[in-house]
Amino acid sequence: MKNYRIALLFVVAVSFVGITQAVESTSIKAIVGGTVVDLDGNASIHNAVVVIEGERITAIGSAKDISVPDDARVIDATGSWLIPGLMNMHVHLGLVLPGKMEAELANETEGELVLRMAASAREILQAGVTSIRSPGNSWPPRAPGHEDLALTKAIAKGQAIGPRIFSSGEAIVITGGHGSKEGQTYSDGPFELMKATRKEISAGADWVKIMISGGIATEGGSIVGALMTPEEITAVIDVAHRFGAKVAAHSGSSAATNIAVDAGIDSIEHGYSLDRQVLRKMQKHGTWLVPTIVVTQPATQPFFEKIGSPDWYLKRRNSVGKEHWKALEMAIEEGVNIALGTDQLPSELNDGTTATAREAQYYVAAGMTPLQALRAATIEAARMLGADDSIGSLEAGKFADIVAVDQDPTKDIRALRNILFVMKGGEVYRDFQSK
Ligand SMILES: [Zn+2]
Repeated sequence: MKNYRIALLFVVAVSFVGITQAVESTSIKAIVGGTVVDLDGNASIHNAVVVIEGERITAIGSAKDISVPDDARVIDATGSWLIPGLMNMHVHLGLVLPGKMEAELANETEGELVLRMAASAREILQAGVTSIRSPGNSWPPRAPGHEDLALTKAIAKGQAIGPRIFSSGEAIVITGGHGSKEGQTYSDGPFELMKATRKEISAGADWVKIMISGGIATEGGSIVGALMTPEEITAVIDVAHRFGAKVAAHSGSSAATNIAVDAGIDSIEHGYSLDRQVLRKMQKHGTWLVPTIVVTQPATQPFFEKIGSPDWYLKRRNSVGKEHWKALEMAIEEGVNIALGTDQLPSELNDGTTATAREAQYYVAAGMTPLQALRAATIEAARMLGADDSIGSLEAGKFADIVAVDQDPTKDIRALRNILFVMKGGEVYRDFQSK
């Protein structure tokens, strides 16, 4: 099975080689003429020079101070604004939602799944998203799984094209919980959950994903109930942290979140109905919230119609929309750490743009400044991952993950709707000419 998987990824890689080679003529590049946005709220650098050697930025500053190396390939970014590559922290590459989509993909083989995921990974990068976190490879979880870990390796080796992937492997499901199938048993009790946690880490996951409350995409099961016991949640977090892995919890519930925050959870996903008290606790503990607000808001209705979502799903989605919005507004007011995530494919068309750009727009509508929303999509996400020493901002020494947009995103976050240029690790994946 393993060889078959590698063979498939090779086919994917071969078809993309032409694109990579076409843009790769010298290892030194200089992006000139653009305006570099300052994520700390200081003045932008106009007429900037960004020098890139190999995968990393080696110098960045005003053209007055930084000279362009003689042998550099010069990329003219005049008239555009340069920001770090966008980061989307809640992406299931193998997502299957109930309805028409589920019916069409009912007999999808592992090979077909890998190719679908590889195609999505490429689109995600084209959409300006240079890093993603995968809190569960496929949804609903399926065996044998871990296709995203294979894809991560293939991307790192240059065999496939896509963003950097930080993965939790397969989400850990409890019997009767979110993601479970009726009548089937899963991991229950601290010891089984410890084993399941170690299994994912051993497969290569840097995160572990648990479902501490019910959710929208599984019919039945209370969204606001606390389905895992404190002993179970603590066991997972303890084991993961011993291995240096972080833990993300799917939660729509204040009660479940309260337990998880006490146990030292790293991130809460969705937070459909969090109350002010638990948000204050999250702020105090530095717990991250990944809102995925697009999923429950009106702009995404046409998407759900397109994929033929059944009535029970739409009802469940609509029932949490208002509360979810209120929770996001309160989280922003309380200064909770927020990293952008969509639970839709980052490049999914949404309201005339991508789900990623639309999510950021919603953050501003819910009370963030445009700069805060841009940070949630870049440096804050990198901080949540513990990867802010190498990605998340444009600085000498960091990976050259750079995106250009046509207006100042700190003035109007809608700038993210129009991605002009994408570089990841010093390679150009979308050039100014190729609109
Ligand atoms: Zn999800």
